[in-house]
Amino acid sequence: MIAPNEKMQKLVSLCKQRGFIFQSSEIYGGLKSAYDYGPLGTELKRNIAQEWWHECVTRKENMVGMDASIMMHPKVWETSGHVSSFSDPLVDCHNCKERFRSDKAPKIEIGTEMTYLEGGKKNGKTLKGTATRDYVCPNCSSPNLSEERQFNGMFRSSIGPIDPIQDLAAEIQRLDKQTSTEELRKLIHDVISRSIVYLRPETAQGIFVQFNNVQQSMGMKVPFGIAQQGKAFRNEIVTEHFIFRSCEFEQMEIEFFCEPGTQGKWLEYWKNERMSWYHRLANDKSKFRLRQHAPEELAHYADNCYDIDYEFPWGFDELEGIASRTDYDLKKHGEGTGTKLSYFDPNKVDPQTGKMGYRYIPYVIEPSAGLTRATLCFLLDAMSVDEGIDAGGVKKERFFMKFHPRLAPYKAAILPLVKKDGQPELAEKLMQEFLDNKINSSLDVQQSIGKRYARHDEIGTPYCITIDNQSVMDQTVTIRDRDTSLQERISMEKCIEIVKNKLK
Ligand code: ATP
Repeated sequence: MIAPNEKMQKLVSLCKQRGFIFQSSEIYGGLKSAYDYGPLGTELKRNIAQEWWHECVTRKENMVGMDASIMMHPKVWETSGHVSSFSDPLVDCHNCKERFRSDKAPKIEIGTEMTYLEGGKKNGKTLKGTATRDYVCPNCSSPNLSEERQFNGMFRSSIGPIDPIQDLAAEIQRLDKQTSTEELRKLIHDVISRSIVYLRPETAQGIFVQFNNVQQSMGMKVPFGIAQQGKAFRNEIVTEHFIFRSCEFEQMEIEFFCEPGTQGKWLEYWKNERMSWYHRLANDKSKFRLRQHAPEELAHYADNCYDIDYEFPWGFDELEGIASRTDYDLKKHGEGTGTKLSYFDPNKVDPQTGKMGYRYIPYVIEPSAGLTRATLCFLLDAMSVDEGIDAGGVKKERFFMKFHPRLAPYKAAILPLVKKDGQPELAEKLMQEFLDNKINSSLDVQQSIGKRYARHDEIGTPYCITIDNQSVMDQTVTIRDRDTSLQERISMEKCIEIVKNKLK
């Protein structure tokens, strides 16, 4: 067992040592909460994305995919409400200077008497204060806090040959000294707005604004869904827990369009679909839960919402949200552009007129998952320890990453025992067969066989196939199972079949 408080530390160091995830720009001191996926992390993340795509798009007749651009017309974000309200309540602690989101701070009762240390330091003087809000500083427990300020989470940039700084300088030169801060703010806003673009904070809006094009070009009939995977960007005030919350991340989102009145049934459907997807790919099903949002948590346009939570080492936290968003988004973009974003069903009776032919704005169920967050979840889920006995008969703990074989970066490792006597040639031949069968494998000749087994346990390779002297004579190999560490001698030609079966 790995204690929960050690788990994250162990994982972060494993990710670096074994080429899963590195700190971005590390040699320059790193950039806050930015991460690079190394060779094995890239394979893992791609495998997760592939599993999602296969399950949510390829296998479903009424689902199609798309890939929208990250930068969209700025009006998209005004209409969707992101410019005015995609903001977090930001608070500064006057005592320890921590900056935090009040909606994420632990809740306490107003009026609670708090004791905290001056400056949040271990050797600080003990201070006392009364909580005047239903939260205190999450770092030092001080109730001595700044006002809440709204902080918009979208990243801004500018597009085109206009240099907003140049324009701004020109405008400012024209001003007289009496200009108020308010006027100056407005002027800056006006200049920036001329060329503003946002990095999308979610992939969803790209789907809504292409509703007509996708529906018409593909002849889709409601109920149907559009799926998308891609990067999203949020200027998070607090980035935390490694890749759990970062400013740049990846999402896997579905907008599922259905007839008004049927949204309850489809919400139920997607809840089950998504939960069983996680259950199929994870070892410990008990760590996933569905949590229904309380009415006060619901966004004003949503009529129901569930989170799929995972029990991370710091407790249950969101992996995916599944929201019933009514017709809000299509309606808003329709109103904002004057384009009809609706669906006509010639075979349905309009409930209002009683006549054949029904035009309506579809309702939407949105299962919205984080790919990078799911990567963290499957990394944590894979961390396993068992007690074995080493070659000297001594009890020894063995650490291994028990990835689902379809998620594992390599499916098999081919290990010639020595670098001579025809073994490397045989290993290369087998490796070629794996590659011809599109099975990602690794030919590994470095270090002792024990070290190679340990290395492949640590990166979660389901099978180690060892080539020895006997292999050269009779074309048999030993195949070692990652999860049991048991070995079996089999004929070499069976290797592909065994690994393929495991991947089914
Ligand atoms: P949170 O409450 O954790 O901030 P959210 O409710 O704002 O998340 P959504 O807007 O519903 O998140 O986004 C859908 C999914 O995208 C989340 O369930 C999560 O998996 C992922 N996600 C959102 N923000 C981040 C982030 N900053 N870093 C990594 N993944 C994220």
